[in-house]
This record gives sequence, structure tokens and C-alpha cells, in this order.
Amino acid sequence: MDRIDNKYGIHLTCNTWNHRNADSQITSRHATENKVIAQMKIFFYDHSTLQLPQGHHFPSQKYSMLLDEIRNQKILGEHELIQSIPATRDEVIVAHTKEYFDGIITGTIDPKIMRQIGLPWSKDLVERSLASVGGSLCAANEALVSGFSGNLGGGTHHAMADQGMGYCVFNDLAVVILNFLRLKKILRTAIIDLDVHQGNGNAAILGSHPEVFTFSMQGQKNYPYRKVPSTLDINLPDDTGDKAYLEHLITVLPKVFDFNPDIIFYLAGVDPLKEDRLGRLSLTMSGLGERDWLVLEQCQRHSIPVCLVMGGGYAVPIELTVQAHVQTYKIAKEVYQN
Ligand SMILES: [Zn+2]
Repeated sequence: MDRIDNKYGIHLTCNTWNHRNADSQITSRHATENKVIAQMKIFFYDHSTLQLPQGHHFPSQKYSMLLDEIRNQKILGEHELIQSIPATRDEVIVAHTKEYFDGIITGTIDPKIMRQIGLPWSKDLVERSLASVGGSLCAANEALVSGFSGNLGGGTHHAMADQGMGYCVFNDLAVVILNFLRLKKILRTAIIDLDVHQGNGNAAILGSHPEVFTFSMQGQKNYPYRKVPSTLDINLPDDTGDKAYLEHLITVLPKVFDFNPDIIFYLAGVDPLKEDRLGRLSLTMSGLGERDWLVLEQCQRHSIPVCLVMGGGYAVPIELTVQAHVQTYKIAKEVYQN
């Protein structure tokens, strides 16, 4: 367990590897090993906080807080922060039914489905949902060119083809992956989903695609209560804690790399944090950092491009969630720029 006990002590060989309209393709992967990413390109959606009814549990302010913190702490320079391009209908309906997409866009969606999403319909919600998927499309393109990119949003892994749920309207990773496979930008891919909730939407939409490896590690007793089997699921008991969590991760990661993915989508939800309202695994901030380091360093070591998406975080106070996401980007900087 040297890797866990010896934080940042791992000797690194920096491999690395450009935006949605970039000429990205998998052949760029091995040509760019042993380089450092001089300038990251990270995608965001810079609008005011989504207005929700008073008392609503979803911490929509976390997105703007994260962007503010990343700027204030100078984790990323202005030149590294790029506004997302919203996803188009043609892109989204590769993973979602036309009926569901059009219902969301026009506001004619069944109120029962909106209740399952858990957010009230608004034009702002529609814009944000499209920008979130678009950010992941942009980041994935960039990752194929440079080796690493991220979306300060996305990771909406509960959304199914014909309905959203659990604060997820559209499934960004399913949209990206199915579009990229269709365009032959990639031939195989893997998702490492470490949000504390199971990636049931990813598993449901992508489950019939043998070229997609979905790995999801979550709290067994957590939402969703009816889980859809991933390629590989690890269900953890309450209060798992750092050590056991990281041991599971170290044991399983080789299986992801053995799949030889062209790109890895890292869904780095920070809700396993012990202060999280919805998390049950009792990870410390340091443990989450070790987790992020382990995943990113291993991906880099295997010369596999990474597209990082946010996933969930509902800590009390919400500043802890923001701090955990900031930490992920600090670690990405260390892995890819040192
Ligand atoms: Zn979650």
C-alpha cells in the first residue's frame, strides 16, 4: 500500500498528450507520451446560479462557487478556462429518445418525470443541461488531443434514454461515448465512476455496447435503490473509510486498464466525503485526494487520455464539496504539469 501511505511519493514519468472542433482521434494517444500539458483546457458554463424554490435540497450554487474558487486560488488560469458549447439535438438523441429530448426542450415533459429528476422545469435548467453535455463533448475532444481535459459540470450518470432522474436531465457521458463511437473517434472506452451513487443510467444506456467498460464503485445502501448492473460494480458498506476504499480501487483499476480503452471518462463525484449529506462511505478530504491521485496517475502512466467530469457533491457546508472539486483539479495539475 505504498501508493496510499506515501502521498505524492510515486515517481512519475509525465506522459501527456487540444476542444470540441479539434481534429481529435485516437491515433494521437501514443505520439504524445512523455510530454507535459503546458496549458490545460477546462470547460465551464458561466451563468448565474440556477434558481430553485426555497428549501430545495440541490446545491446549485456549487457550480459558480467552484469556478470562483478555481479562479481565486489560481488553480487554472483564465486562458485555461473555456466556455462550453451547448450540445445539439442531433448529438443528444444518439443517447436519448427524441420524445424525451423534445419534451424537455419544450417543457411538455410528463410532470412525473420532472419529479423523478428532482428539479423544476425551467428554460434555465434546459440551457444548463445542454451546456453540461456540451462541456463533456468539448472536454472529451480536448482529452483525445492533449491527454487530459475536464468539464466543470457533467457526470449526470442517472439519466436514462427516455427519462432523467436523480438531478440528472441528460446523460452526458452516454451522449459523448455513443457519438464518439459512431464517428469512430474512439473504438473502446471505459468509465471510472467513483461518485457515491451507482451509475445506473450509464449502465442502462451503454450496457449493450461491448466496446464500453463501465466501472462504478458506490455505497451499497445509496440511491439508486434499483441498480442497473455495470460491467463492474463494487458496492461498499456504510462507513467504509479511506483505507478499505482505496484498497478496493487499487485492486480493481488494472481490470479497467486491461480493457485497453482509448479514453477514460473519470466521473469524480465528491459525495463519498464524510461530511456529505448523501454519502455514506466516510472518506476524508485527504482520502478523496488519494483517490483522485491514484486514478489520474495510473491513467497517465498507461498513456490513456482522461476526460474528467464532476458528478455529485452535497456536503454541509457546501464549501467542502467545492474544496473537494478544487482539490481534484490541483491534483490533475500535479499529475499532468509536473
Ligand atoms: Zn452522487
